[in-house]
Amino acid sequence: MNRWLWTYEGFDPAEEGQREALCTLGNGYVATRGSLSESSADGTHYPGTYAAGGFNRLSSEIAGRTATNESIVNLPNWTVLRCRVEGGQWFSVDQSAPDSHRVELDLRRSVLTRHSRLVDPDGRAIELTQRRFVSLRDPHLLVIESTWVPSNFAGTLQVESALDGTVTNSGVPRYSELPSDHLAHVGAEAVGDETVLLHVRTNDSDISVVQAARTRARVGGRAAAAAPRACTASERWISTTLDVEVEQGQELIVEKVVSMFTSRDDGIYSPRVAALDALSTAGGFDELLERHVTSWAHAWNRSRIDLTGDVGHTERVLNLHVFHLLQTVSKNTAELDVGVPARGLHGEAYRGHIFWDELFIFPFLTLRIPELTRSLLRYRSRRLDRARDGARAAGFSGAMFPWQSGSDGSEETQTLHLNPESGRWLPDASHLQRHINAAVVYNVWQYWKATADLEFMRFWGAELVLEIARFWASASTYDHSLDRYEILGVVGPDEYHEGYPDRDEPGLDNNAYTNLMAVFCLICAFETLDLLPASRRGELIEKMQITHEELDRWGDISRKMRLCFHRDGDGGAVLSQFEGFELLEEFDWDGYRERYGDISRLDRILEAEGDTPDRYQLAKQADTLMLFHLFPPGELAELLDRLGYDCDEAFFERNLSYYEARTSHGSTLSQMVHSWLHSRLDPEHSWQLFRNALSSDINDVQGGTTREGIHLGAMAGTVDLVQRCYGGIGTRGDVLTIDPTLPEELHELCFSIVYRRQQVDLVISHERITVRLPEDALRGAPVDVDVRGNRRVMGPGDTFEVEIR
Ligand code: BGC
Repeated sequence: MNRWLWTYEGFDPAEEGQREALCTLGNGYVATRGSLSESSADGTHYPGTYAAGGFNRLSSEIAGRTATNESIVNLPNWTVLRCRVEGGQWFSVDQSAPDSHRVELDLRRSVLTRHSRLVDPDGRAIELTQRRFVSLRDPHLLVIESTWVPSNFAGTLQVESALDGTVTNSGVPRYSELPSDHLAHVGAEAVGDETVLLHVRTNDSDISVVQAARTRARVGGRAAAAAPRACTASERWISTTLDVEVEQGQELIVEKVVSMFTSRDDGIYSPRVAALDALSTAGGFDELLERHVTSWAHAWNRSRIDLTGDVGHTERVLNLHVFHLLQTVSKNTAELDVGVPARGLHGEAYRGHIFWDELFIFPFLTLRIPELTRSLLRYRSRRLDRARDGARAAGFSGAMFPWQSGSDGSEETQTLHLNPESGRWLPDASHLQRHINAAVVYNVWQYWKATADLEFMRFWGAELVLEIARFWASASTYDHSLDRYEILGVVGPDEYHEGYPDRDEPGLDNNAYTNLMAVFCLICAFETLDLLPASRRGELIEKMQITHEELDRWGDISRKMRLCFHRDGDGGAVLSQFEGFELLEEFDWDGYRERYGDISRLDRILEAEGDTPDRYQLAKQADTLMLFHLFPPGELAELLDRLGYDCDEAFFERNLSYYEARTSHGSTLSQMVHSWLHSRLDPEHSWQLFRNALSSDINDVQGGTTREGIHLGAMAGTVDLVQRCYGGIGTRGDVLTIDPTLPEELHELCFSIVYRRQQVDLVISHERITVRLPEDALRGAPVDVDVRGNRRVMGPGDTFEVEIR
């Protein structure tokens, strides 16, 4: 099995949307779905091109309220390239079932190739081979090359190469009642013989977007003697048409190189001038491809993970997952002011917003391309003032980041959402997921531990941590009778519970995950103050006006936060997901499974029945269990101990079995977390859950959601699971720890990480662990390594081998 190739045979309209999402090509600046170049949005096909950070807002009346939504904008479709016999119909998979159709996604080179034998209604058949890439090396260049060979005729072929700005945001049926037209026409022009240019702008955020396309044709190896080209320009559309004489069996090769710039780009005079300049110096297809492929080879050097065992399929899926992570964020992203969207740049689900999913995405990046995590954390620090406003507006102090974030860091969570099962618009309280703030601190902290990047902490990280700590302190209220602090009125990661069944106001009290993460943030705040040089510490204290009393209160909260516990069926104590969870009704899991089959989206099922998940002991995804995921057992025990709560040996297992029995895995993030938690207790079960998590997008397990965008958290998270859970890589204080839990199926793992500026090469098997620092590693930056309790300080050229059986 080729672990670097995804192949799709035949054309199936029902699967096309998913295929388009999974064949998206991007370079961290822009991405384009793998839609066929003769297609337009029609229910089967959905061409989509999205620029990182390219958002726009539109308002409309919905259920009697004005709803404003910010969306990542579908930009002009640059891929339009089609051909027909003069006077005939365009060759297309939709005309009549193609004789043959095959799409290949080459993960190693990031090239999408298509072979189709298409027949027009008059019976003329043509062979089409098309190659496409979105250059990693030249991020403003997008390239497509079609080779058409008439099989059973000769004559004039008419080729159309267009830039189609009439596209709208219509990729998610649930949003179809909302306005979708984000682009306004600015200009369309032919520039010289070969080039057409389209200029549009987003109609509210006013981002200018220019695409220029250079189209060249060759017949029988020579520049085609095309009749003068016809250029058609209209509102948000421009095309060039070439008529070329072709013999039967002769190749017509058309190459389209597109440059794209927006007014968000740095270092340019204007998008129009930059787009034309870029085209004037761009080489041809082969030269651009070579540059692109070299950059991909470098990207894979930093990102690959090699598996040994009977795990060809697993490795192929992991390669696909790393691939899509790198389509979304790459070295080109490091220069941009953008976050990492939960659904990639692959579709319009969640409108391109940024959530807590960073928590599952950053760990892999931090150990591979730490510069990228740094840049993505800057997305948050640049929006610190907006988060300060957010806190103030909600009656808190410090900085409160929004649950869903887009352009400027305002709260972008929808206030109403549609239940497709019932057709009803419902109030949405998911913005109460304040735990996003803990994720920001956790991410800063993980980055700090893995990189020791003091400059980042001094400049940006410390202020983030301190302002969020301040927010948590202001969100905590003191209960005298209990002598405990509480956090009231929030929503935890389990979005199926937004409130108590008998309370009008949304929000839950004392969500264990939120409360303990708040404690973690407060502790980080103290550690942050400690790690800063005295001068910077003084400056921040002065700037933020942090007083002794305030610090005392932070310390007090971090020792007296309230957690609620209740007894499981066997009488052992478990954490209560939130106060009163145990008072809710038990859910009839078997009955519902029998009735509905797939019950992952219990929220929709119950609402359509006139019921609500709020009444039951159930969870959409890992909530309380996230604590066991984010903290190694020792650290969690320390946190509980600090709060004066005991946990016995069986505490973890009890919580796991209690909540596992009550979780529907309605988020693709969930099985991955459960897999991690089972890795030491029940490796077989862990492997099964891991395999389920791997199938999230390739099998579209959520029934039609992949076509709306990949699930990047699950994609990156599964790779991270192999690296940090099965591979056992951890950072503890100043030590790199390696304590693998390889499942039977995985015989060996081989990968390189970056730890504190050093490359560390690892080979991990059931028999031995080999750690190596390359000869040319940085001198004077030793790495302190602990392999299953064996400690070694390593320098350049050192190898540390530990037998483990
Ligand atoms: C999950 C969230 C996640 C979001 C974006 C939701 O379905 O419940 O935890 O952040 O998707 O991926």
